[in-house]
Amino acid sequence: ERLVSGEQYIDDQAIDAALRPKKLDDFIGQERVREQLSLVLHSALRRGRTPDHVLLSGGPGLGKTTLAMIIAAELGRPLRITSGPAIERAGDLAAVLSTLSEGEVLFLDEIHRMARPAEEMLYLAMEDFRVDVVVGKGPGATAIPLDIAPFTLVGATTRAGMLPGPLRDRFGFVAHMDFYDPAELEIIVRRSAGLLGVRIDDRAAAEVAFRSRGTPRIANRLLRRVRDFAEVRADGYVTLDLARSALDLYEVDESGLDRLDLAVLRALLTKFGGGPVGLSTLAVSVGEEPETVEVVAEPFLVRQGLLARTPRGRIATPAAWTHLGLAPPQVPGP
Ligand code: ATP
Repeated sequence: ERLVSGEQYIDDQAIDAALRPKKLDDFIGQERVREQLSLVLHSALRRGRTPDHVLLSGGPGLGKTTLAMIIAAELGRPLRITSGPAIERAGDLAAVLSTLSEGEVLFLDEIHRMARPAEEMLYLAMEDFRVDVVVGKGPGATAIPLDIAPFTLVGATTRAGMLPGPLRDRFGFVAHMDFYDPAELEIIVRRSAGLLGVRIDDRAAAEVAFRSRGTPRIANRLLRRVRDFAEVRADGYVTLDLARSALDLYEVDESGLDRLDLAVLRALLTKFGGGPVGLSTLAVSVGEEPETVEVVAEPFLVRQGLLARTPRGRIATPAAWTHLGLAPPQVPGP
């Protein structure tokens, strides 16, 4: 389990729940999404209609579950939570859909991982608030139409590109959630510290925010590690120095890179002169599987402008040399 992964680990669950803002006004950052969503919800409320279905796309830990809960709260409706992997057959989805109450909000996390037959059932449900329940098998099978209560689907996906067109098209509002900037994360860190009773000075909160890879869940996790450190090594008050020492101890560097990220970068620079080098060769050189390097380390390195993926292989950017305090090889003059 990496400290700087946006994925939710078991020990994050309770804390995630405790730190979730409950109203749209308390949701920090994502200005545009917030404003657009507020319009979608409040215009539906004024017209007394069920709002359009909403698709939230964005990386793990950016607040999709939080927003789904806020949508239900703003509408004053109950929320039902399920996820793509939990729906293995169309019948699983029919069971959920047929028991929804009028106006209920259905949150379908990881919607891109739902079974194909269920997906087709969902099209009809989203469009006509109807499901066809198939009874029997083979030539004798019959579809019995069943009306369901109008509901609002909130789908969440980390892979919007993997959603089939017909599914995407049935969402009236698609929100792309971006990474947060450090100033927004700093507000989140200070808010979470308040809720957790952690005393932290502003510069320390800024430091935690800066190392959090643009992701609130990581910010909240780093805050907890920094708090532990301050409690054991000092009187519990988190100063800038304490925050830095704690994050250094946990091997999260000043840009939020961890040991794996740095190992990949260092190998690319020192063993392959900055590349280009193939993914598998690079992975072997750091003792990892190619998939780990590709999925776990590279996206953030690419986003930070430290590494580029090219058809000839991975190459380091000039910023990578600077980041590790190394001099790039001299290119021979003409
Ligand atoms: P996953 O895709 O892994 O389920 P997610 O995108 O649904 O992640 P959430 O569970 O909603 O992410 O958020 C993770 C944590 O970050 C929660 O504790 C939540 O309180 C906090 N958080 C997320 N977004 C915000 C925000 N805009 N303001 C304050 N806290 C936030």
